[in-house]
Amino acid sequence: MSTSANTFTELYGRAPEGEWAAPGRVNLIGEHTDYNDGFVLPIALPQTVRARAARRTDGVLRLWSAQGGGPVTELRVADLAPGAVPGWAGYPGGVVWALREAGYRVDGADLRLDSDVPSGAGLSSSAALECVVAAAYNDLYGLGLSAPELALLAQRAENAFVGVPCGIMDQMAAMCCRPGAALFLDSRDLTIRQVPIDLAAAGLALLVLDTRVKHDLGDGAYAALRSGCEKAAAVLGLPALRSLDAAGLPAALTRLPAELQPLVRHVVSENARVQAAVAALEAGDPAALGPILTAGHASLRDDYRVSCPETDLAVEAALAAGAYGARMTGGGFGGSVIALVDATAADRVAAAV
Ligand code: ADP
Ligand code: MG
Repeated sequence: MSTSANTFTELYGRAPEGEWAAPGRVNLIGEHTDYNDGFVLPIALPQTVRARAARRTDGVLRLWSAQGGGPVTELRVADLAPGAVPGWAGYPGGVVWALREAGYRVDGADLRLDSDVPSGAGLSSSAALECVVAAAYNDLYGLGLSAPELALLAQRAENAFVGVPCGIMDQMAAMCCRPGAALFLDSRDLTIRQVPIDLAAAGLALLVLDTRVKHDLGDGAYAALRSGCEKAAAVLGLPALRSLDAAGLPAALTRLPAELQPLVRHVVSENARVQAAVAALEAGDPAALGPILTAGHASLRDDYRVSCPETDLAVEAALAAGAYGARMTGGGFGGSVIALVDATAADRVAAAV
């Protein structure tokens, strides 16, 4: 298949009206906190999902992706329904469905997608895909929606249409992350703070290591963990685990069944780690992120139990090779590991891993 046969014009016989992009992300710290109304701290990757698009007026949504490995998919906008669209087309189809569910009278489009965000690596290619489509529709149809509003619609597409019960971090990261800053997001009310981060100026680098493993138990386990957290909050009489802080943790643990205690311990300690990481960055001491990352990994491995032998090994190898800190990033059960290293040691640590 030659790429020249797959330009927008060659796919659809006309020119696109515009081009949009949305980045993948790595989460520095704050894992499994977003659906507990807690804190997260992602940064955008240089890698993006890009969409070229043009409106249609006949109720047809046509989709093609350079990574999709197939011909143009054609969907009828009026027929979009949860569970009705298999495969990757469910992400963009879900966004159009979510817009219409929310009352926006959008019609079809021709979309050509291309991406260099690794897919299924815990770097949130799915949210980048949803968000680039949401951004394109927002502009093409003059909807005037804000970045957080688009992020919420993209999340609804993933939750209700694709059927993945993800929190709001990934979509907010894809819509709101800025170059040179980490996004300090409060998932309870979607308030954000851009926290400047300049690792190069401190002689540091952040390695992102894709373990290339994805364990199947991830999907069901994620939903089980999420409902475990909701159950714990209900037992404690809280709207969400976010409302519990480190000072209140010991007393709260005595009121919880044994199987829920480690979940709560992780969420409460992880929220504190996000705040500590923001403080370290704002104090101009990014190397202090190191131990925070490593403590976050231990908590995900021992309390939340979403690590796996491959990510544990990558973290241990990075630390043994001199990283300031390392942890799995993303939902778990495989995916990627991040390691904070001296810029001069980056190649050596990567080779060790
Ligand atoms: P992650 O978001 O961590 O990359 P997910 O499993 O949530 O992993 O999302 C990966 C899925 O998103 C892929 O299986 C595919 O369906 C879809 N996807 C991501 N990028 C693209 C792309 N460029 N083209 C088509 N589908 C994509
Ligand atoms: Mg995803």
